[in-house]
Amino acid sequence: MRKRVLLSENDLPDRWYNIIPDLPAPLPGPLNPATLEPLKPQDLAELLPQKIIEHEFTRERWVDIPEEVREVYKIWRPSPLVRASQLERSLDTPARIYFKYEGVSPSGSHKPNTAVVQAYYAAQEGVRRLTTETGAGQWGSALSFAGSLFGLEVNVYMVRASFEQKPYRKSLMQSWGAQVFASPTSRTEAGRAILTRDPESSGSIGIAISEAVEDALSRDDTKFALGSIMNNVLLHQSVIGLEAKKQMEIMGDYPDAVIACVGGGSNFAGLTYPFLQDRLNGDRPHTRFIAAEPEACPTLTRGKLAYDFADTAGLTPPLYMHTLGHDFIPGSIHAGGLRYHGDAPSLCLLKEHGLIEARAFPQTDVFEAAVRFARSEGFVIAPESAHGLQAAVIEALAAREAGEQRVILFNISGHGNFDLAAFDAFLAGALENPTVTDEQIVTSLSNLPSPAAAV
Ligand SMILES: *Cc1c(COP(=O)(O)O)cnc(C)c1O
Repeated sequence: MRKRVLLSENDLPDRWYNIIPDLPAPLPGPLNPATLEPLKPQDLAELLPQKIIEHEFTRERWVDIPEEVREVYKIWRPSPLVRASQLERSLDTPARIYFKYEGVSPSGSHKPNTAVVQAYYAAQEGVRRLTTETGAGQWGSALSFAGSLFGLEVNVYMVRASFEQKPYRKSLMQSWGAQVFASPTSRTEAGRAILTRDPESSGSIGIAISEAVEDALSRDDTKFALGSIMNNVLLHQSVIGLEAKKQMEIMGDYPDAVIACVGGGSNFAGLTYPFLQDRLNGDRPHTRFIAAEPEACPTLTRGKLAYDFADTAGLTPPLYMHTLGHDFIPGSIHAGGLRYHGDAPSLCLLKEHGLIEARAFPQTDVFEAAVRFARSEGFVIAPESAHGLQAAVIEALAAREAGEQRVILFNISGHGNFDLAAFDAFLAGALENPTVTDEQIVTSLSNLPSPAAAV
């Protein structure tokens, strides 16, 4: 039995796949945060590199990957696709389970797939400095790595809770030359406003985005970089699924279910959209797509589809997405990368059209799956990725129940080597399952930008 498919450098895709022209309905566009009118591309000119704005709005199905970016991708891409035969045995399932492994990148997750592109175009356009936010530290690490390759200064606003919980993520970013601040900071108005209300604030991704955006807008030599939810990010991440399709073909299999975790949706879209194209074409009408999220931050399963800001202070363009409200602060689960109040608009549209299913899992079930995986396939994976794993396990058990040889493909978005404190807590029986009440959601949804703007 074939265990693993490694493609050669020559098999690295030379174009990204853009799902926008293939969607079953037009995608409601972003709004201008000040006027709440439809956003024009040039409204983003101060914030993002020109080429990234172009990627954000393009309707071309295929977009060329610049040769310089492919050179950098080759440091760790194509990433492996592995048959999880030991996990199959451990679950006693007739299902064939495969995983795509993004933990091989220098910063340990899928995030460099877009960070490298954003840093490359910024440097090309004469930008000297990039600002960004980071939750658990994965995105900040990816951008710090990418910035160092192209000679950019990178300033990272890191959610204070993670800054304190994950000091080594900070050391990693600093090793690549970045400056890291615990957000909320007193460097920005957005940060100071939060600190005035709550000097002990542990921060949130939404607050950190507000700070990074304000910083970028205040300087001519600086642009902002975002690691998820935007169309351009999802476009860049399509390398994952494009490689996986070739690898599955070599395996002689095609997935019945394609699965990944969702924070903002970028690794999910990265793996699934190239397969979704086959479903939208009518070539593979029965393939299912499953998005896995935490019960503590249930955007797809319990959020409302509405225009909402991407950040807490309301500096970013409202997006039409499943949201829990831009000031929703989720319970402190260890999957920091999944603690975000919204999701990528294209993913939300596909969910509305019944093309994507969503499942929410409690934290302890997710860690149980992660430990089972470590004890069968060996890798200790990120708590975020373990949500996708848990969905795959449930599918595999359903296949056993039904006596069906289903083919399951899931994404491992990152390794868990910086998350051992969380595994420690799980193994000590000290992990809790924070829940969200309906009342909490209703309250945080009462503050959406403009009900009148709803489509
Ligand atoms: C950031 C992150 C996520 C969540 O972000 P998406 O945009 O939803 O992919 C998931 N897994 C890992 C390892 C991450 O670093």
